[in-house]
Amino acid sequence: MKMKIMKNGKFTSKAKGHNSDVDLTIRLSDGRIEDVDINVEGESSSRNDAVVAQLSKQIIEKQSDNLDAVTGATETSNAVRRALTNCLSQAQGSDSISKKKSLKDGVYEETVPSYSLIAPMTGRVTIKDNTIKDIEIISEKDSQGSPWFKRAQSKLIPRLLESQSLDTDAITGASASSGAIKAIIEKAINDAGGNSDQWHTPVAKKDNTVVKKGYDVIVVGLGGSGILSYCSAADNGARVFGIEAAGGIGGNSISTSGPMVVNSKIQSKKYNDGQDNINEKDLYDTWIDYVKTDKKADVIKKAIEEDGPALDYYMKKFGFSFDGAAFGMSAGYYPSFVRPDWDKEWTIYSADNNHWYSESEPDHLPTFQNALDKAKMMNPANDYQLELKATEFIKDNENKVIGVRAKSYDGTKYEVYGKAIVLASGGFIGNKEMMRQVYGHTCHVFGSTVAQGDGIKMGQSAGGTTYALGTLPMIHISQVPNIIRDASLTPDQKAILSALATTSDAKKLDETGQILESKDESGTDDAKITVGIAYAPGFKYFNAYTKADLDKIKTSGLSDEMASVIIILLDQGGKLPASGVPVKDLDKILDEAIKHGDAWKGTPAKLAKDLKMDEEKLTKALGDSEEEYYLFEADSYAYATCGGLDVDVNMNVLRKDGTPIENVFAVGQDSEGVENRSGQAYTPWGGQAQAWTFVSGKIAGENAAKVK
Ligand SMILES: Cc1cc2nc3c(=O)[nH]c(=O)nc-3n(C[C@H](O)[C@H](O)[C@H](O)COP(=O)(O)OP(=O)(O)OC[C@H]3O[C@@H](n4cnc5c(N)ncnc54)[C@H](O)[C@@H]3O)c2cc1C
Repeated sequence: MKMKIMKNGKFTSKAKGHNSDVDLTIRLSDGRIEDVDINVEGESSSRNDAVVAQLSKQIIEKQSDNLDAVTGATETSNAVRRALTNCLSQAQGSDSISKKKSLKDGVYEETVPSYSLIAPMTGRVTIKDNTIKDIEIISEKDSQGSPWFKRAQSKLIPRLLESQSLDTDAITGASASSGAIKAIIEKAINDAGGNSDQWHTPVAKKDNTVVKKGYDVIVVGLGGSGILSYCSAADNGARVFGIEAAGGIGGNSISTSGPMVVNSKIQSKKYNDGQDNINEKDLYDTWIDYVKTDKKADVIKKAIEEDGPALDYYMKKFGFSFDGAAFGMSAGYYPSFVRPDWDKEWTIYSADNNHWYSESEPDHLPTFQNALDKAKMMNPANDYQLELKATEFIKDNENKVIGVRAKSYDGTKYEVYGKAIVLASGGFIGNKEMMRQVYGHTCHVFGSTVAQGDGIKMGQSAGGTTYALGTLPMIHISQVPNIIRDASLTPDQKAILSALATTSDAKKLDETGQILESKDESGTDDAKITVGIAYAPGFKYFNAYTKADLDKIKTSGLSDEMASVIIILLDQGGKLPASGVPVKDLDKILDEAIKHGDAWKGTPAKLAKDLKMDEEKLTKALGDSEEEYYLFEADSYAYATCGGLDVDVNMNVLRKDGTPIENVFAVGQDSEGVENRSGQAYTPWGGQAQAWTFVSGKIAGENAAKVK
């Protein structure tokens, strides 16, 4: 939009970004944009800082809304641009959205990046009479790793066809796939001669309130621990209502490998000649030694004693099944992750329907769904609802919790009344502000970001206190900060980028610019940094290379170490070449890495300026102030947070004075701090978190069902 400013002053607007509203304020003086304030805090993009910096600069320089999107943050950048158009229109005294441009009838095939790291999403959009008539996704790989794409497809497409608006909300828990579907439509509109900016009309929301009464137990969150609580409450005779914010059940629990198993009778018989698979006293002593306090010794003891019986219960009653011991742990696959002699303590879910998401991830959504369906059938009053986000407790005059307020995706408000509440909302990894408060930093998320601390906050609002809230999140992955999802590099090139950033044989620098000292990764005294793992929120490192190092890779290939980097999960799709095979396209990889904010090039002085490092330290670490170096960043990626509400052996949330809140319970990641220690990584034996979902879920369900 060209500037013909009629008014000066401050103008503010918002526009829908990837999964939040983006806010923009500009200040105009003498017909020029003098100041820009962009707020993209609600967006989940790791490129937020780049969006603010680059777009603010562009706006001042260009004095127009003709902005170039920031690489890796197109949806957010477009929202900033639309908000700017709106502000400029206000300044010109006109409405920003003029009459919609006509579209040419046709079927438009479009390809866009999506959640999958392996392949983009392609869809066909049928346009007729200026209306989007049909949207068909003809190829995608998002569903290879999770059920989220199918949820977006089945729910979002009908809503988009009805609303004819790109401001239709993404499906909670499937925002990346939802964003890709909307991007396909956006491209189709533009290719049909239209202007997709004009297709962001507000979508009307309902404003009615639905009241539901007569429940014994309300479960907030139907991930693993919520479903297991629901099952045990229903099995103990309670009328149960489940509230789930996402477009489907299961939370992070459906993506996990499996739980720790402590002497389950069924598992021991099947896989260990009827013998115990672990010595409970040894496990208890090791655990207490790890958390360095016996403050929650009773809960830890219970978690150990009840693990086998809980797994047996859910296997017998609700159809769960597990294979033998997970992975080759005794062979040292995760050297510092478990005690090598505990080679049978971690089991994995059996694959349902013979469907495995990848080599190591079985699809166990059907197991959780079947269990929930079975529990629902136990009483005709039992029910649950998806896309319903619990927001706060309802309390009576004496401050007793008597229900939960919730909001549906369509705006409908709910008041659900019940005698007992189980909080099972999965922790707070999706809440950046809370992460900053607790850890001083955020970290990237590998998993669901729906968990935003709602359960913990609700528990606190009832007088509950937290325990070991600052336990470090579950970080098992380090990767480049900005995963490249577009096709600017091939999957194999992306794998090489990951290897450059995480290999252990490069010179490693910390964020101040000095050589990285060994860090204590697991919290145990003798543990050394697990090579290549960034282990805590905010912790990052840089692998440094000289031009000669990179030229050598071009001509003589990756080192043995680099070629054998295990880039688990976030492997960006491809395979690494064998060591010694020349990497002729390294320049292309470097260029794209720099564009995406994964690597930096320059003299120590330039790098120190770009990365806000200490120039003196960096020059000393790199060696030559005149030479150009290349720094590749590796950051931490977490599955979930671990600290939560304080609970007793019955899973009742505790007040600061140690007394239980009789009808409020917390399970799973909402209370896992009781097994851990603030400031330290969570207990380093495999499957402990999932084990807690089973044990805490069973106990909370039983006790919640008893509340009068
Ligand atoms: C990829 C991956 C692999 C993992 N592998 C393992 C493993 O092998 N072993 C292991 O022990 N642990 C593993 N974990 C850890 C795992 O996260 C926990 O064990 C487990 O999922 C915690 O269960 P939960 O019920 O607390 O959370 P979730 O299963 O995540 O459930 C929380 C639910 O609450 C919902 N919710 C959130 N807020 C609200 C609200 N306001 N209203 C209503 N609903 C809400 C969410 O949508 C979600 O469905 C893994 C995690 C990931 C991401």
